[in-house]
Amino acid sequence: MKLVKLLLALVILSSCSTKTTTLDEVQKFIQLEETRDILFTLASDEMKGRESSNGGYQMAADFVTNFFDENGIEPFYPSYKDSLQTKEIWSYNLVGRVGSFDNEKPTILIGAHLDHIGINEENQEDPIFNGANDNASGSTAVLQIAKFLATKKWNQNILIALFADEEKGLRGAAHLAERLKQEGINLSYMVNFEMLGATLTTGENQVYMTGYNLSNMPQKMNAYAPEFVQFLPEAKQYNLFKRSDNYSFYKIHNIPAQTLSTFDFKNYDYYHKAGDEAEKMDITNMSQVISTSAYVLAKMLEEEVSINLLSQE
Ligand SMILES: [Zn+2]
Repeated sequence: MKLVKLLLALVILSSCSTKTTTLDEVQKFIQLEETRDILFTLASDEMKGRESSNGGYQMAADFVTNFFDENGIEPFYPSYKDSLQTKEIWSYNLVGRVGSFDNEKPTILIGAHLDHIGINEENQEDPIFNGANDNASGSTAVLQIAKFLATKKWNQNILIALFADEEKGLRGAAHLAERLKQEGINLSYMVNFEMLGATLTTGENQVYMTGYNLSNMPQKMNAYAPEFVQFLPEAKQYNLFKRSDNYSFYKIHNIPAQTLSTFDFKNYDYYHKAGDEAEKMDITNMSQVISTSAYVLAKMLEEEVSINLLSQE
């Protein structure tokens, strides 16, 4: 009788600990309506193109900190702000953490740039550059992924960063990469999100990864979601690996640090144009891409997958 009870307890215990993340669970959690709400808020005219000199970036940052606060993402530093100065103007990255931080554990970083290029009055018909695809979409992804990850416990430290001043020369990410290095925080890998609002020409619910051959990250992600991560020849041709916020983390920490995107040069005509607006985004595909990204990241964390550099750029 006692043995039966013991076995029963063991069965119950093991079924609890093996309750792993499913795609279905993530898809139910990451709601299309929320994707739309966050995207439209960040790309609204009120946010003035999310540039720090006109106060628009600060409004977007307030939205992000409220979101963090409401969804259990704690400030990594004493506040969410990691300040830096670019051409005499102060701005700040927003850095949060999921769960507690333990220096003995590996740390992964998930990020996107929040800033865009602001207002240009010379463009009389439409002076506000809303930057819906670039990069309200990637910021939306990071917020929704962070919210999902914050519902669970992980064996790794997870940092969440929204970067300032990407459009001014990848400044925010460079600042944080340097600061983390100086503080002795060793990152294992970094995943960056850029421009997810247009459906990749090769198919729905797909992204491409920059620096595709530099690490085993694409293969590890595709093991959980077959064909999700694609190789884009233009990404290599235009060296996109060096053109977004992942690059500083690669350079300064010598770790796999790569960008996921759906902008493939054929599917969106409004890159850095005033017409980059929320109405043009394919929200359904975007929300799917965010769910799949959250799922593969959750699996990688859950199974403590090691992501390694395979070569140097
Ligand atoms: Zn961008």
